[in-house]
Amino acid sequence: MSFSDLGLGPDVLKAVEDAGYTQPTPIQEQAIPLVLQGRDILGCAQTGTGKTASFTLPMIDILASGRARARMPRSLILEPTRELAAQVAENFETYGKYSKLNMALLIGGEAFGEQVRKLDRGVDVLIATPGRMMDLFDRGNILLSDIKVFVIDEADRMLDMGFIPDIERIVSLLPRLRQTLFFSATMPPEIRRLADAFLINPKQVSVAPPASPAETVEQNLVMVQRDDKRKVLRHLLRTEDVKNALIFCNRKRDVTILYRSLEKHGFNVGALHGDLPQNKRTETLEQFKAGSIALLVCSDVAARGLDIAGLSHVFNFDVPINAEDYVHRIGRTGRAGRSGRAFMLATSDDAKQLAGINRLIKKDVPRVALEGFDASEPVGAAEPERPARERGGGRDRGRGGRDRGEREQGDRGRSREPRERAPVAAVAPEPELLRVRPIEAPVRESLTGGRLAGGGASASASASVGAAGGGGHSGGGRRRPEPSARQEPDARRRRRFDDDDDRPVVGFGDHMPAFLLRAVRVSPEPDPIGAED
Ligand code: AMP
Repeated sequence: MSFSDLGLGPDVLKAVEDAGYTQPTPIQEQAIPLVLQGRDILGCAQTGTGKTASFTLPMIDILASGRARARMPRSLILEPTRELAAQVAENFETYGKYSKLNMALLIGGEAFGEQVRKLDRGVDVLIATPGRMMDLFDRGNILLSDIKVFVIDEADRMLDMGFIPDIERIVSLLPRLRQTLFFSATMPPEIRRLADAFLINPKQVSVAPPASPAETVEQNLVMVQRDDKRKVLRHLLRTEDVKNALIFCNRKRDVTILYRSLEKHGFNVGALHGDLPQNKRTETLEQFKAGSIALLVCSDVAARGLDIAGLSHVFNFDVPINAEDYVHRIGRTGRAGRSGRAFMLATSDDAKQLAGINRLIKKDVPRVALEGFDASEPVGAAEPERPARERGGGRDRGRGGRDRGEREQGDRGRSREPRERAPVAAVAPEPELLRVRPIEAPVRESLTGGRLAGGGASASASASVGAAGGGGHSGGGRRRPEPSARQEPDARRRRRFDDDDDRPVVGFGDHMPAFLLRAVRVSPEPDPIGAED
């Protein structure tokens, strides 16, 4: 079957030809004729299957006749992330290049001004993330009463991200007479229920069984010790023929830690997660797509559905908590018939998640041994020298960021320099080194009924706590320094005694009152019977 058999108009066909597509993908073959007929669609398809074109191509045709009025878009596409929204907008530009449709992209992290101006001029296609959409709606910049085609993309991810209440509200603002296209990579019961609520007599199209990884991705599992993870990753990056790779972490703060570590080790790397400013996210993604950054450490949310041509590798630095995410992550490579390689680093703590993944993909991720990797070897001599700031408690130390994150990853309390340089096997066992004896101020709080700690003594105390514990508080302005709250109870008790010097002193001159000469029992335990002196 060719694109011209699907009922698309000449402008779209020409744009498709320009894009170099010769044949529709299975989801396009199924969905495009139905969308052109005006049917609601329930689509179960992963990214990488050509899903975006399956709704954008017919939408361009449907919207070709008619004109948008100010602030009244004619179609709305909701995407869970800014990156996906931007990607769909790019698709519209590619496929709509011979049409005269106006498009606006409404995503958070960018100034309202230009978005509002576009809406005022009238848009045919509005592509948005739910939060920014509602912001603009609530400010009176958008009216949704003229929406003819409504698309919910990546519905399962919307659910994960807590957008469903927003979406329900948006749907309640749409005209009842509309066409709704609903896509989700997986169809858990909650998503099914949503689809039932939003769609009218939909046609279901489905291209792959939910959550099946592409055949073109070679999967590998590497069992590691937790402390070796970064070292193993570096080994893989050096020994695999990596052209470009996404490296997934489960948590945003771990994205930052790993990014800094790789950067320090001389890799050409960027980071992408939801807490970074939008301009930084856009810039990093552009650089990665253009090939000026080879490795991108990212979180699931930021990288979901990203379409990066010819991605050679995906690394799961962490085993994903949800098995479906594994499939989404590795689906970034091996796209469009190309082959790709995926590696997952797992520790013995990950057994449960691994079992979930194996169950979902109906086979065990093949386990591989690492050739030439010796965990006991020191980091190679080729490791770049770190800048002094990184080495010796420079101004970054104690400010939270890196030190704190490393601690949270299990490197608690150690000096980084010997840790990175020393053989892993020689790293001293944990808890004793960990136990810092912070000199800090909270006793003042206990004396002052919780007033703020401040002044010289507390400032130095907080600096030392910051360096050791990574809380990085400034000594003034916070009621309870964070690290003390994390101390184990006996450490806190001990500190109160250590800090007794700070208590006001009562003077007796030369006279020594008798009660002071009596032995004092510190133990709160009741005296054993008969043990009184
Ligand atoms: P998607 O699943 O929408 O993220 O699309 C994945 C990739 O497939 C994108 O890079 C599209 O440009 C590409 N693509 C979409 N349709 C076709 C097609 N019919 N032939 C070749 N590539 C396509």
